[in-house]
Amino acid sequence: FQKELLLSEKYQLIGQLAASISHEIRNPLTTARGFLQMMGKEGLSQEAFERYRTYAFEGIDHANGIITDYLNFSKPTVEQPALLNVREEVEGVIPWLQPFSVLSNITLDIHHLIDEPAWIRGEPKKFQQCLLNVMKNAIESMKDGGILSVHTRLEKSHVQILIRDTGVGMSSAQVKRLGIPYFTTKDTGTGLGLMVVMSLVKEMDGKILFRSKPDQGTICEMHFPLAQPK
Ligand code: ADP
Ligand code: MG
Repeated sequence: FQKELLLSEKYQLIGQLAASISHEIRNPLTTARGFLQMMGKEGLSQEAFERYRTYAFEGIDHANGIITDYLNFSKPTVEQPALLNVREEVEGVIPWLQPFSVLSNITLDIHHLIDEPAWIRGEPKKFQQCLLNVMKNAIESMKDGGILSVHTRLEKSHVQILIRDTGVGMSSAQVKRLGIPYFTTKDTGTGLGLMVVMSLVKEMDGKILFRSKPDQGTICEMHFPLAQPK
């Protein structure tokens, strides 16, 4: 009985999420459609045509960004929490970074200080979504290139994942606003990535904290309780 109840709660959550996402995605798509329509008007100057085209692309890119931040790994099924091998999950996200890092000159430094498998409890897709969103922010903070370091470390009762960049960094006022819906400093940002991260980390009984300095870079530290403490 307990299990059934939990599952139906989850389906409800997915329903709510789907409703808010379709709203989020429809707005920029409607805008893009409007500009495409305006591009078909007679007597349009070349300058206006180019400008509308840019706006249309921006709308589509924005919709795409929302899908990436919310649902990159999600499937229309409800996953059960499982035992996750931290190292494997981290490695599994790396190929997904390719599209974001290919343009800027970014060196990846992955370092595991975990010898034996370390297990935490969670849903694989959600955990990977967390890692992806944080790593994507790190990459986006290094427009002129830099180093993205991902370190995993085993503590007595938890696993630590450190994601560090050498990017633009943040003021302490900005750090305080992380995770607030729609907080973004990017032209084409969604301001939803870290909100998703923080709610998923909480769901996994984890902790997340950020340290940052303007022009020096940012460290994101995530902690998750070990499923089988040493
Ligand atoms: P988005 O990436 O769409 O802007 P997020 O919720 O992922 O939304 O991030 C919110 C804001 O937090 C970003 O716009 C940026 O200002 C700041 N931020 C997050 N991570 C970093 C980072 N590694 N370096 C610098 N700024 C960051
Ligand atoms: Mg982001």
